[in-house]
Amino acid sequence: MTSPIEYLKGVGPQRGEMLRKELSIFTFKDLLEYYPFRHVDRTRVNLIRDITPNTDYIQVAGRITSVGIIGEKRAKRLVAEIRDQTGTMELIWFQGITWMEKTLTIGSGFRVFGKVSFFQGQPQMTHPEIESLQEVGKETKAYLEPVYPTTEKLKARGLGGRQIGKLTQTLVAQLREQDLPENLPEEILQHTKLVGRFQALQHIHFPPSPEAWQAAMNRLKFEEFFIAQLRMGLIKSQRHRYSRGVVFSQVGELFNDFYENHLPFQLTGAQKRVVKEIRKDTGTGKQMNRLLQGDVGSGKTIVALLVMLLAADNGYQSCLMAPTEILARQHYANIAKLLKDLPVNVKILTGTTKKSERKKILEELASGTLHFIIGTHALVEDPVIFNNLGLAVVDEQHRFGVAQRAKLWAKATIPPHVLVMTATPIPRTLAMTAYGDLDYSVMDELPPNRKPIQTVHRYEQTRSQVMGFIRSEIEKGRQAYIIFPLIEESEKMDYENLMKGYENVKAYFPEPKFWISMVHGRQTNEIRETNMQRFKDHDTQIMVATTVIEVGVDVPNASVMVIESAEKFGLSQLHQLRGRVGRGSEKSFCILLTSNKLNNDALERLKTMVATTDGFKIAEKDLELRGPGDIEGTRQSGMLNFKLANIMQDREWLELAKDMASRIIDTDPDLSSANNLRLKNYLQSLQGKTAWSKIS
Ligand code: ADP
Ligand code: MG
Repeated sequence: MTSPIEYLKGVGPQRGEMLRKELSIFTFKDLLEYYPFRHVDRTRVNLIRDITPNTDYIQVAGRITSVGIIGEKRAKRLVAEIRDQTGTMELIWFQGITWMEKTLTIGSGFRVFGKVSFFQGQPQMTHPEIESLQEVGKETKAYLEPVYPTTEKLKARGLGGRQIGKLTQTLVAQLREQDLPENLPEEILQHTKLVGRFQALQHIHFPPSPEAWQAAMNRLKFEEFFIAQLRMGLIKSQRHRYSRGVVFSQVGELFNDFYENHLPFQLTGAQKRVVKEIRKDTGTGKQMNRLLQGDVGSGKTIVALLVMLLAADNGYQSCLMAPTEILARQHYANIAKLLKDLPVNVKILTGTTKKSERKKILEELASGTLHFIIGTHALVEDPVIFNNLGLAVVDEQHRFGVAQRAKLWAKATIPPHVLVMTATPIPRTLAMTAYGDLDYSVMDELPPNRKPIQTVHRYEQTRSQVMGFIRSEIEKGRQAYIIFPLIEESEKMDYENLMKGYENVKAYFPEPKFWISMVHGRQTNEIRETNMQRFKDHDTQIMVATTVIEVGVDVPNASVMVIESAEKFGLSQLHQLRGRVGRGSEKSFCILLTSNKLNNDALERLKTMVATTDGFKIAEKDLELRGPGDIEGTRQSGMLNFKLANIMQDREWLELAKDMASRIIDTDPDLSSANNLRLKNYLQSLQGKTAWSKIS
């Protein structure tokens, strides 16, 4: 199955090269796993008369009544007409014209298959697949013929969907059962009543009946989910069993003193629960690798701080890393203030830290007199040496990559506990699939003092009312954000829009009565920091910004969030942005400004934002609208790129796969029993990262 694809009969070096380049098909196995996106009943021939604009793929049979080349250069094309007993249809080729012209002699009979489009009320097919009616009679056809996705380039080289089908047919015909050994344990096959692997891989391409295809589909979907869940579960289980972790055995003076005397508020139930979960984890001697998901404003920072104090109580250092310097500073300011009466040494280290200060910090870290270090994610890259790092907190990141972790772990003899925090909630279904190798906690509760944020959608022409509203809030002593989109592809144009927007806002809010901060990605760090700081200090009342302020920024006095061209933002981004307000005790507002032209998806997003502030509900909707592949932070996990399975539509299979996988992990985590030998062999045969390569 690992033979290079060019060795398959009918491929050869040139087509092999094309298949590699265009479809990433390198081996026999890749071709076998290049699944058809649908099947057609090729024994059914439709009448041209019956074609409607709703017709998708169709097959008709008839005789060629005209053929000719029209247009020039890029518009040059071959146009033929085919006629059956009920009407005519145009056939069009832009490529392979010469050969096609020779083939399509007038009066000859063909069966053509392809996707129908309508031009001036007439049906036509571009680059249909054709076969001469003489040939048709000779062939014995599969009942359901697979249709494969292909590219224009491949079609032009004689590798259209049908030809790919010929190749898979060749491949499937030569497969023997031992080429595709069963990988699921017998109990699972019996329990799920799924068909065997060999049969499934044959029938997914060439099913003898629709039921057989469905059975193959179920089997392969289940397998995709199951293997992914199993691999991640094994990684987690091995980490828990074999990698030694720092032990935080006692809750000491620092933790207790802070908890009893310096905590500025009561913890929410969710915060308490998560602290407890972490305390339990870090006391056991296993290494914690935890993802903490908490909606915007749910209060993750204080949880991190409590765990850092716990580390200090046990004699260990902690680091806290944020994605931007602004956020690192904010964390530092908050934490330094909270800890000011405690004997904890906390410092910040960033790209702008002065040389002499830096030297001092590094010394303190190495000697162990510095307890907490706060910085950007670059802290792991830095040649920072710790005396005894016991905990690393990573803020606003979904995943802390294997490589980064390894770097961090090189900084301690026993790997430190890792706590990754993210404010982009993802639905539970997705979380368990994407993060199955991590310990996982959720904070689904906001602190009680929050006033709900009122969200409205307004069209462009009511801008002056919106500005009037901002003015009235500012006059009450509040502050406002006005956010402009900055999308990479059209960065220049967006930048001009931002500047225009800024001038516009300035015209509504003239100095010296009003002051405006502006923050965007083209500024130097220094300028951005200064502008941000002025807004935090309430020297300015309005912050005009791009999404660089998206995560984490905490200015409780800000009560209005205006999002310009809100239709251009994704749901999770809108949710993040809205989370910048509603942090104080005043009622807050989010205004989504859009143009009048909105497509359905955009309308749906706006409606969702107006209807709810629940991050998990929004995440569900996002998943529904965009599909899992696009959900921020899950793409790199590689765990959601299933070929057949879909975590939204196939939830039942996912649940079942998860159940079965955890049953195996619970009872036989080394896959040493005879029953699981197949699984063990299969996992070992997978290329790249297997469950056996410990992520530590
Ligand atoms: P996020 O989870 O988005 O990082 P933060 O940790 O920044 O949230 O907390 C948001 C705000 O809520 C901060 O001003 C913080 O002091 C406050 N806060 C956190 N927990 C509580 C609580 N239990 N009660 C009241 N306010 C809280
Ligand atoms: Mg935060």
